[in-house]
Amino acid sequence: MTLLIIGLISSFFLGAALASFVHCWAHRLYNGEGFKRRSYCPNCQHPISWFNNLPIFSYWRLKGHCAYCHQPIAKDYLISELIGGLLLASATAIVWFNLGGEANFWLAARTSHFWLTLIQALIGFILLMLVFWSDYWWMSIFVNPLLIGAVIVAGLNLLAGRTWQSLVGGILFGGLFFALQFWLSKGRWLGEGDIYLGLFLGSWLGWPLIIPVIFIAYVVGAIIGLVLLVVGLKRRQSQLPLGVFLAPSGWLVFLFGQSWWQAYLHWLGW
Ligand SMILES: [Zn+2]
Repeated sequence: MTLLIIGLISSFFLGAALASFVHCWAHRLYNGEGFKRRSYCPNCQHPISWFNNLPIFSYWRLKGHCAYCHQPIAKDYLISELIGGLLLASATAIVWFNLGGEANFWLAARTSHFWLTLIQALIGFILLMLVFWSDYWWMSIFVNPLLIGAVIVAGLNLLAGRTWQSLVGGILFGGLFFALQFWLSKGRWLGEGDIYLGLFLGSWLGWPLIIPVIFIAYVVGAIIGLVLLVVGLKRRQSQLPLGVFLAPSGWLVFLFGQSWWQAYLHWLGW
């Protein structure tokens, strides 16, 4: 039980720190900046010391203001850090209960499969969060990180024992599904970035799990789009970027996809 609590707390802070990093990365990609320069206040440009740059804690201690110029810091920093922390902590809880407790955790931790899956989880977590925020703000600045990520997770997947057929099937389906729509609609239905997101998701989850990712994203996207239309927050012409739905859907399928797929096959009587 103690191990579970330690795991939950540390994964919460890891998630918050990664979210904070992703937030910074998204802004720097958008501005065409690299990581040479240290974190700085977007208002007064003053470099931020590590102590004033701790996720959640610093925001709380400085009451949401810059330590140097005292201008308010945008709330979405705090929101994304909290979301990141909660997502990783809940993933830890899910894995813990799926494994069935501490004894099984130690057994699993001795296998390379466990660590390969963990690395894949973190890569996916970072990239999907990057897609979520940047797609939400400006769209399609994440092509290179997704392509590099797709190659890395493909390698990790092969090491973890996934078949190359599953990998190639996932990549082809994920990429072509969106490329075809992009081509048919001349870019009106979706952005070019969705093609690369499809490639990455296919490489990360493989065939057949790429199917439920796309399916869930479209269904949830349609429902939310309809609700926004009804409550008048959105007009018929305006579109929500697809990546905002594909990213969380990909994370859900990474966590639950295998058991959902088994249940589906069982239901079909296979
Ligand atoms: Zn400042």
